[in-house]
Amino acid sequence: MMLPPATQRRRLLAPLVAALMLGLPLAGQADTAFTYDIPAIAPEVSSESEEKPGWATERFAVAAANPLATDAGYQVLKAGGSAIDAAIAVQMVLNLVEPQSSGIGGGAFLVHFDGEEVATFDGREAAPAAVDGGLFLDEEGEPLAFLDAAASGLSVGVPGTLRMLEMAHKQHGVLPWSELFAPAIRLAEDGFMVSPRLAESLAGEERLRDDPQAGPFYYPDGEPLEAGATLRNPALAEILRQVAEGGSSALHTGAVAHDLVLRVQGHAERPGTLTREDLAGYEAKQRAPLCTPWQAYVLCGFPPPSSGHLTVMQILGILEALPEVEAPMVDGVPSEAWLHTFLEAARLAFADRGRFIGDPAFVDAPGGDWSSMLAPDYLAKRAELVDEQSLGSGGAKPGNPGELATAWGQHPLQPEYGTSHISIVDEQGNALAMTTTIEQAFGSRIMADGGTGLPGGYLLNNELTDFSFTPEDAEGRPIANRVEAGKRPRSSMSPTLVFARDGEQRGDLVASLGSPGGAAIIHYTAKSLVAMLDWGLDAQEALDLPHAITLGGPVYLEQGRFPAATLEGLAERGHEVSERELVSGLQAIQVVGEGFFGGADPRREGVVMGD
Ligand code: GLU
Repeated sequence: MMLPPATQRRRLLAPLVAALMLGLPLAGQADTAFTYDIPAIAPEVSSESEEKPGWATERFAVAAANPLATDAGYQVLKAGGSAIDAAIAVQMVLNLVEPQSSGIGGGAFLVHFDGEEVATFDGREAAPAAVDGGLFLDEEGEPLAFLDAAASGLSVGVPGTLRMLEMAHKQHGVLPWSELFAPAIRLAEDGFMVSPRLAESLAGEERLRDDPQAGPFYYPDGEPLEAGATLRNPALAEILRQVAEGGSSALHTGAVAHDLVLRVQGHAERPGTLTREDLAGYEAKQRAPLCTPWQAYVLCGFPPPSSGHLTVMQILGILEALPEVEAPMVDGVPSEAWLHTFLEAARLAFADRGRFIGDPAFVDAPGGDWSSMLAPDYLAKRAELVDEQSLGSGGAKPGNPGELATAWGQHPLQPEYGTSHISIVDEQGNALAMTTTIEQAFGSRIMADGGTGLPGGYLLNNELTDFSFTPEDAEGRPIANRVEAGKRPRSSMSPTLVFARDGEQRGDLVASLGSPGGAAIIHYTAKSLVAMLDWGLDAQEALDLPHAITLGGPVYLEQGRFPAATLEGLAERGHEVSERELVSGLQAIQVVGEGFFGGADPRREGVVMGD
């Protein structure tokens, strides 16, 4: 485990540690196998881009977006817990310390490997039974402004994270479910230090302060909490106690569910329709993973309702079908020539994504099988559209994988934000990649206290804004990802496990990775995979590389990270280029020899720990 030296850590945290009675087990947990100690680490990293060292471990490793969350997973693994046990502890602490990104009010996708089989668990939010394609249209039939739709009761989908974790824990858990909530409960009761990133998110957020529960909690005296402030969350501690004892039903039924429904239906401006029946009826799903051969590897990821794996693998497949770029990296950053082919591949892949992908319970795969979108001869045909000059903004049109009979309309472009990624490998040979979200930063900006009447609580997602706001396109064709009752919105989340390729078979585990970042998750993941698997960079070097994205229109390069000549060269090739912040939150763990090497995104507060 590589952290600041113990003496330095103690110095940084002396006041917190003294205040927190370090090392006392939780009441009622003294006889159990796992007892949680509040760690001698703090979110001392700044919210500015921070150089990360990369972390070598021998037996197990956990990577998450906040040091306290990573540490909770580390303590679970050290106590003999499995990867899924650790993921539960990490997720609950993330809910507390990185509330803007994920939690029990949201949804998640988990790719799990138990040493033999790969399984995918779907905890994506579902649309309530009473909604239809007009959910985000105003009286005139025009789509609502994005933020108005997001910060409302309309956008709240039935949460799925807890049901999903419970399903995976039943199959792969080692430690008792109830023990895995101890870190989050303890930190919620005793208090934790607000991290720079949370403080910055609170300061930059306009609508959260209007929420009757979140306003006074995160903006005491009207001012946002500052980094380093100690925050307790008694309502969340109480809710998690109930979940620890009663399982996911403590959220989906009873008083906590009742409170959730009241808050959604009671939203002052735009109430939603979510009911107790919607909550009680939610089920996590185990789906067949998509495992796709690429070069010397097999990459396993999430099928629809995520567009992640299909779009990542379309990009990688198109790149593979094109002649190899001679110098993909120049002076430590991706070259103009490589970026051009990458961006053209992304244009083509996003055109298909916008046409074909939606919840498979509602949308048939092209040709009856999603793998039609990844067929090598189809991608080779798509690669023929890549030329010296860019297809330009809006120039890439969808193809026709699987000779699709139904004519879907094209999905309009909409923003997505927020989210967190967790990668874990345990000592028993399990590995997982889990991306978890409440969609935007602070989700629907509705905080629920579970009916406890205590300060704090958890935030409800705005995942339904991942549906198309308009049910049909300008030609009147239905959009695959339109709102429908009970449907799960299309996602970009791309949790990925990489394996060696043994012929067409899956061999040993090579890596686990994923990222937040809205639709750009796909670019961040695809480029990091190329960097690690094709260019031979280690996990940290790969995550450090600057980003370039396009959803089919303008190209955005990460602010200040590429030479001016690259911007000019891409513009000459017909890309509409500008620079902006591109705040990924990648986490990756690679298998290296007998051990592991983990990387965390320099753009966020994540760290890796392990022994
Ligand atoms: N809601 C988005 C999705 O599921 C993720 C948002 C984000 O990562 O920023 O694809």
